[in-house]
Amino acid sequence: MTVKVRFAPSPTGRLHVGNVRTALINWLFAHKAGGEFILRIDDTDLERSTKEYEDGLKQDLTWLGLTWDSTFNQSGRFDMYAAAAESLKEKGLLYPCYETADELERKRKIALSRGRPPVYDRAALELTDEERAKLEAEGRTPHWRFKLSGARVEWDDLVRGTQGIETTSVSDPILIRGDGSYLYTLPSVVDDIEVGITHVVRGEDHVTNSGAQIEIFHALGGAAPAMAHTPLLVGADGQGLSKRLGSLSIGELAEQGTEPMAICSLLAKIGTSDPVEVRASLEELAADFDFGKIARGSARFDERELEQLNASIVHDMPFETAKERLAALDSKAADAEFWALVRENCARVSDAKDWVDVVFGEVETEVDEADLDFIRGAADALPEGAFGAETWGAWTSALKSASGRKGKALFMPLRKAITGRPFGPNMADLIVLIGREKVLERLAKL
Ligand code: GLU
Repeated sequence: MTVKVRFAPSPTGRLHVGNVRTALINWLFAHKAGGEFILRIDDTDLERSTKEYEDGLKQDLTWLGLTWDSTFNQSGRFDMYAAAAESLKEKGLLYPCYETADELERKRKIALSRGRPPVYDRAALELTDEERAKLEAEGRTPHWRFKLSGARVEWDDLVRGTQGIETTSVSDPILIRGDGSYLYTLPSVVDDIEVGITHVVRGEDHVTNSGAQIEIFHALGGAAPAMAHTPLLVGADGQGLSKRLGSLSIGELAEQGTEPMAICSLLAKIGTSDPVEVRASLEELAADFDFGKIARGSARFDERELEQLNASIVHDMPFETAKERLAALDSKAADAEFWALVRENCARVSDAKDWVDVVFGEVETEVDEADLDFIRGAADALPEGAFGAETWGAWTSALKSASGRKGKALFMPLRKAITGRPFGPNMADLIVLIGREKVLERLAKL
């Protein structure tokens, strides 16, 4: 059996960390199994879906490296959904209901006040042909509900183990709204059957849907795919993702200079038995993947952890990978030596901008009053000629003997006077890149 999975976002907003995790898990599973990853655009809601969001989510997935083997839009397949609805109607499994939203709400409240679960009472099934005709004559158009069997639906969830939904405890789901539009439930099943999806992998907020959808698979003559429902993300404090984090879009993260592999490494590992650490490629993450490693408890998404992973990627990033982005910061920054020296001081590639100023541009420098004389004298002790690998060592030894300073008292004032910062890359290498002229200029300014 060739594994075929789908990621099925609705193009009604940007991709955010929660739904990207679902995409990633599908992708990793498919790649480990040598299977297919299909991108299905759930755009049956024609009013809320937009082409911009569709393009945006494709762009985000591509940026993350989560490329798809094929893609299709649900909006081009209404004929198939209508045919499936017809077949359910013929089987007596899809029935028209005329209650307004207010009427349904009233029923719900009454059920609750009587201590009963707010399950739809199937009153519409009792309507006679005349009553239906009368309601339609009043101008009501029906919405359509799928008639659940009343049995217990069970499946062996790849993450949650044996799952069961008592279909008596849930309302018959509405498949078609009064205006004729489809909710996601039916089109999803029709497509999963038609495309031959072998595994439905999605968030655990869909567990209850799965009970109804498994019955719809059977009613349409298909076998239900295997199912895996992954726990939802929570914030670092164990509470639900804050509104800000929950909607933190991949686009925003990219703009902030987050590396795609930092996002993917974090999202692939949190809530699993593997340690959270960077993997160099999606293929490596796929090699680690196993549904059995995913814990039942929620997965904690901690932005600080994302920053740490990001920094560790940048610290080891080869020049070739950073090159274009460095060139965009400043034409002089696309320099292998420069990158090798500054990358350990960058949590993002864009942080190199600061070091571009230090090495190639202008910086504000300042030293403590107590160090002023020392710094003013330091220029005279500079070894002759162009700077090389030994310059710093020779210079600071001479200064040490002359001033009696050592350690921090010797090095820190020099670092601050030359770079304007109390931290940074190795000074011996840095001054070579900055060059004699600029160093002298900066010392002379103090
Ligand atoms: N469009 C649905 C969602 O985003 C798809 C759910 C599914 O994977 O079946 O929730």
